[in-house]
Amino acid sequence: MPASDPATPVILDIKERIAVVTIDSPPVNALGHAVRSGVMAALDKAEADDAVDAVVIRGAGRCFSGGADIREFGTPPAEPTLRQVCARVEDFPKIVVAALHSTAFGGGLELPLSCHYRVADASAQIALPEVKLGIVPGSGGTQRLPRIVGAKRALKVILSGDPFAAREAHDLGVLDAILDGDLTAAAVAYAAKLVADGAPLRKVRDLAVADADAEVFAEARKTWEKRSRGLLAPLACIDCVEIAATKSFDEGMQREREIFVACRDSEQSKAQRHLFFAEREAAKVKDVPRDTVKRPINTAAVVGCGTMGGGIAMCLVNVGIPVTVLETSEDALKAGLAKIEKNYAATVSKGRLTQAEMDKRMGLINGTTNYADLGPADIVIEAVFEEMDLKRTIFGELDKVMKPGAVLATNTSTLDIDEIAAATKRPADVIGTHFFSPANVMKLMENVRGKETAKDVIATVMALGKTIQKIPVLVGNCDGFVGNRMYHRYTRQAYFLLEEGALPQQVDKVFLDFGFAMGPLAVGDLAGLDVSYLVRKRQVQFIKPGERWPVAADRVVEAGRKGQKTNAGWYRYEEGSRKPLPDPEVQKIIEATSAELGIERREITDQEIHERCFYALINEGAKILDEGMAQRASDIDIIWTNGYGFPIAKGGPMFHADQVGAKHVYERLAHWAKVASPALEPAPLLEKLARTGGTFADL
Ligand code: NAD
Repeated sequence: MPASDPATPVILDIKERIAVVTIDSPPVNALGHAVRSGVMAALDKAEADDAVDAVVIRGAGRCFSGGADIREFGTPPAEPTLRQVCARVEDFPKIVVAALHSTAFGGGLELPLSCHYRVADASAQIALPEVKLGIVPGSGGTQRLPRIVGAKRALKVILSGDPFAAREAHDLGVLDAILDGDLTAAAVAYAAKLVADGAPLRKVRDLAVADADAEVFAEARKTWEKRSRGLLAPLACIDCVEIAATKSFDEGMQREREIFVACRDSEQSKAQRHLFFAEREAAKVKDVPRDTVKRPINTAAVVGCGTMGGGIAMCLVNVGIPVTVLETSEDALKAGLAKIEKNYAATVSKGRLTQAEMDKRMGLINGTTNYADLGPADIVIEAVFEEMDLKRTIFGELDKVMKPGAVLATNTSTLDIDEIAAATKRPADVIGTHFFSPANVMKLMENVRGKETAKDVIATVMALGKTIQKIPVLVGNCDGFVGNRMYHRYTRQAYFLLEEGALPQQVDKVFLDFGFAMGPLAVGDLAGLDVSYLVRKRQVQFIKPGERWPVAADRVVEAGRKGQKTNAGWYRYEEGSRKPLPDPEVQKIIEATSAELGIERREITDQEIHERCFYALINEGAKILDEGMAQRASDIDIIWTNGYGFPIAKGGPMFHADQVGAKHVYERLAHWAKVASPALEPAPLLEKLARTGGTFADL
């Protein structure tokens, strides 16, 4: 029988009285209907065969199993369901051993959890990632795992959703043994020994849950109510594990199913599943073939070791890429490196990094004030002050010293990539790599292609993003790129709303109610209001006749209120506290500005704030898509959920637009454009979607 036959994705083979059931369904042995039926049929044969003493279930090819195909979500479950397969395995009259290699994720772990024993080779990784998709494990994972490893450890695995390597999984008690040599042969020998030793059929359903104290669950709820920011799945997972600890197995299975269905059908889970696929899509560049040969990146350089340069250097050395950092003087260099060191030391003191690992990483960073030292690097990332002339001078220098083929990247957040590239004789090698602050923490990497950026440079930088564990998204070269360009649209509306009658705390509350951790005015205070003030001063020259300017925002800074650093911005702050407190002084400044502008203040509803801010965001997103500055609407969602705190439960601005409907967004924008702010004139693409009933997802 040929391997990998889609019609026969499960192969039964008998070796020394052990039936080996091999799931062979490339690429990841997803547990689709044919696989489930195949496992059932193989088990029937193995049960009936007197020459079989025990069963080993294994995966062929790349991994044990990547789990259920979540694209099956929309369809009614076809029998046998994974739950039925798991029950059959658990009740099987002969010993069943799961033999895991590489990934055993989701359903791909729930099946092994129903086996009587679990072994693996050193490559194995286990995970129950369902929580990240807004659901609970739905095939007994929440009921069996706590019975195997206890409540606390089960919560750790289920709530993190993260992979655990074989060694950790063994320490947790998920695996009975890690085997050396050929896994199938070793697992067959392991099963034969169990039979020879008269080992019991260890039915997980019959085990009691260890460390199932009420405090364990109370503690978990306390932590996750804060951490999950409105996401329901983590709390639903805790409920399921508590049920496992306090109710019968059958009742637990019943409740797990009900909770799974409720989660699956929620808007949140839809949003999270959208983001799951969106993140994978974002890595693909439409006109850059997957097999484009990338330039090797083994060494790197960073110019400027300030807030961003230091963080970027950390990202690189964290994955073992040596970095040479250039600063203007020995003192500046010392200060920059000291900041990096302090950052690492804080992680060491929290116990999240060993001193030895910190030393290793610091050892990979070299400092210099001499451009010639950067020459051999495979990539250089510039992160100096946001000034065009300075950046052009630096790129001119880099052009002289960097080896041919080096990637020349800039971390600019607003400047024209083509203008920077034009300072070199190799614009095809120039690209934007826009990191977010703090660069060593924030996941988003907005890569900006210039008009001459070479395809292999794009492929190289997108791949580097993955290597340094970021989420890379490719965008076009326009003012503010995608993220900041949209951000400015809604902050502008927030400022205008203040001038028309709202107060900072009211505007920010609408954002908090929507699921943001902070509103735009509190964010402004955190970032420093003087920073955006200076940017605006530079933009003044570009104001079009009749264009409205956010005057109140200028007046607040002109009153010496620069945000948290002066304990006064849109809010006031007690010494040493970051809690924004409403301030009557700010109200006075805002009211005086309204008078200065001849605006009669009126009552502003929360609905108006919501629509003018969030729909402004969507409107700009539509313009960006129309101009081809983002490849797809879902890329914008990835940028916003990973770089700007847009609530994951809402799936990003463009997904949200599709949920409320383009027609509604269009009509409300048209209304506000007429009565309050012409800047809200609906984008042509939005108008088209509204007229045709289209969605951003289908563009
Ligand atoms: P920063 O002021 O903290 O650091 C800039 C560093 O560049 C300083 O250490 C300075 O000494 C050094 N520098 C200046 N001129 C230099 C030169 N000629 N040669 C070498 N080093 C030089 O600024 P930052 O916040 O790190 O921003 C750097 C860049 O990153 C800017 O382009 C900014 O727009 C962008 N950016 C910043 C953020 C943020 O939140 N801070 C986020 C994204 C992008």
